[in-house]
Amino acid sequence: MKRLAILGSTGSIGCNVLDVVRQFPERFQVVGLAAGRNVALLAEQVREFRPALVSVADPQLQTELRRLLPGGNSIPMAAGISGAKEVAAATGADLVISAMVGAVGLEPTLAAIEQGIAVALANKETLVVAGSLVMAAAWQQQVPIIPIDSEHSAIFQAIQGNRPKDIHRLWITASGGPFWRRSREELATVTAAAALQHPNWSMGPKITIDSATLMNKGLEVIEASVLFNLPPERIQVHVHPESIVHSLVEYIDGSVIAQLGIPDMRVPISYALAYPERLPMELPSLNLFQVGTLTFEPPDLERFPCLGLAFQALAAGGDMPAVLNAANEIAVAAFLRGAIPFPAIPEVIARAMAAHVVQPLSSLEQVLAVDRQARQSAQTIISHLLE
Ligand code: MG
Repeated sequence: MKRLAILGSTGSIGCNVLDVVRQFPERFQVVGLAAGRNVALLAEQVREFRPALVSVADPQLQTELRRLLPGGNSIPMAAGISGAKEVAAATGADLVISAMVGAVGLEPTLAAIEQGIAVALANKETLVVAGSLVMAAAWQQQVPIIPIDSEHSAIFQAIQGNRPKDIHRLWITASGGPFWRRSREELATVTAAAALQHPNWSMGPKITIDSATLMNKGLEVIEASVLFNLPPERIQVHVHPESIVHSLVEYIDGSVIAQLGIPDMRVPISYALAYPERLPMELPSLNLFQVGTLTFEPPDLERFPCLGLAFQALAAGGDMPAVLNAANEIAVAAFLRGAIPFPAIPEVIARAMAAHVVQPLSSLEQVLAVDRQARQSAQTIISHLLE
């Protein structure tokens, strides 16, 4: 029986994780759940999975959660970042599923690693903002980090049984998002509602906008560089609108190993939960006759500058990816509430990066301070843009 603590249990990944757990009750037990503000769904999850500890975004939500749970006064509850850290590190979990959205996932994920607990990672921002610190902690504790992100799961699967030094390049695939065929003029007027209609993957609002700007791919390039220890020039992005090939690894002998499958997050999730085993998922089989053609195109960095900005941040190194990420989170939130147009997202990020002098990463405190400063800087840039 593997004991799981889930950070971000009411999000898209969290719900899919619980769906896999539901199918294999003899293999997995949920010992901790941490969520944000969706207490109605969290209450249902608590009733069904009976965790030892549950955490919400802030203390007021605890009262609401207790009200929704008959006899709920006996269930231990926590709140905020400290609550999420407790769920990660103090519930006796064998595996922590890190699936919160944004840089807020960093501290609880690091808490699990420092406690020597294995991590199944969906929260890519953790590796984007503090990659070297997180990997150093994982190395020190000899803790595996198993990717859930479909592209990184594909690469992780394609490198099994191979030596890291034999990898020549990674090819990360991208669906292109909902606006891949739009012209620059059309992109100037797209709305948040249109962006939230993703063609292939069903995800939360933040990652769906990131997918529309190609920042999601940019963050994934940084995540891959950290996770697989390769420089930016050995990572390529291929736009592959069918989302069937989830990524590829090119070896020094010219062999390319890819992982294919239907676009369903329960596949990489089940792999991360059961690794190194595989679970009989009973999902529809990939039907390549029906798919017919697989196409690949180079990304267009003129229409989608966010991907180029991510490569720049990765090449600059140090705390620059943290600045990129913080500015992106602020710009995406502003776009979602209708405050800025779509092309302003990369503009805000580019200006925040230009205003920052890169420093090497030294500590969690430094990362958190840089994250705060970059958020303020992005807010200021947005208010100037609106003047
Ligand atoms: Mg992905």
